[in-house]
Amino acid sequence: MFFKLDVFQQTRTRARVVGIVNQKGGVGKTTTAVNLSASLAAMGKKMLLVDFDPQGNSSSGVGVERGESSPTVYEVIEGSASAADSIRSVYGDFFKGRFDILPANSNLTGAEVELLSLSDKEFALKRALESVCGDYDYIVIDCPPSLSILSINALAAANSVIIPIQCEYYALEGLANIGKTISLIRKRVNPFLEVEGYLLTMFDTRNNICHAVARETRQHFVDRTFNTVISRSVRLAECPSHGKPLVIYDANSQGALDYMNLAREIVSKAGGAPN
Ligand code: ATP
Ligand code: MG
Repeated sequence: MFFKLDVFQQTRTRARVVGIVNQKGGVGKTTTAVNLSASLAAMGKKMLLVDFDPQGNSSSGVGVERGESSPTVYEVIEGSASAADSIRSVYGDFFKGRFDILPANSNLTGAEVELLSLSDKEFALKRALESVCGDYDYIVIDCPPSLSILSINALAAANSVIIPIQCEYYALEGLANIGKTISLIRKRVNPFLEVEGYLLTMFDTRNNICHAVARETRQHFVDRTFNTVISRSVRLAECPSHGKPLVIYDANSQGALDYMNLAREIVSKAGGAPN
């Protein structure tokens, strides 16, 4: 069952909702969603990470296993569970209760089909998050590698987007599509959507292609490319298999420092003092 909502009804929200999008697969969306959320929580921000990808990689990346029977984001958007009942705290001792996740699993694939029959199909996630928006400083949404109805829901719910760009030869292909999609989303569903920034990921200083991609990205997206660059790091690739963000798995590694710098850059850009 799905409920109707007046999507332009204004509710007072505190959280800044940030979608992590790129229709290209494997560019670092999930790694960014998990480790940026963890870094913001480590800085003292109250965080909700929303896994909005049927692959469920953000969920397993923070130790929530796929087979668990508790409700997920699918049940929340479908209306059979509340967000509050489906959200859970992760690594409460480490983050002092400041890091929550709304998990996902393969059930979310079903939502792609079910949503299509609704007249307000773009707003299911926005509606689902409305009741918890006031409880957080930031809500980070991890998107699937497609511009499907799930990603459109994330863009409709978000205040801004982060677009990870993997530093490799074909990186800039398809970015024009993202630009077009953002313009279309602004026209049709979310006039206030901002670009938080383009984020260079998996950067290897020894690799000339990486430098070329970084140069081209900064030329193309002047002032919209983050100063922080995420290095290619074995520790970042390892930590999902331990179900831990890198700030817990190896806080002194380069990848953990990079994501802390990204968190600081985002907080200082928003005008808040990093605490
Ligand atoms: P998908 O489109 O399938 O959802 P994604 O964009 O979410 O993928 P990730 O899952 O974050 O991408 O990353 C893809 C792979 O690259 C993963 O194995 C991840 O561990 C690895 N990876 C991501 N960032 C880095 C990095 N900075 N250094 C090394 N490995 C990385
Ligand atoms: Mg992913």
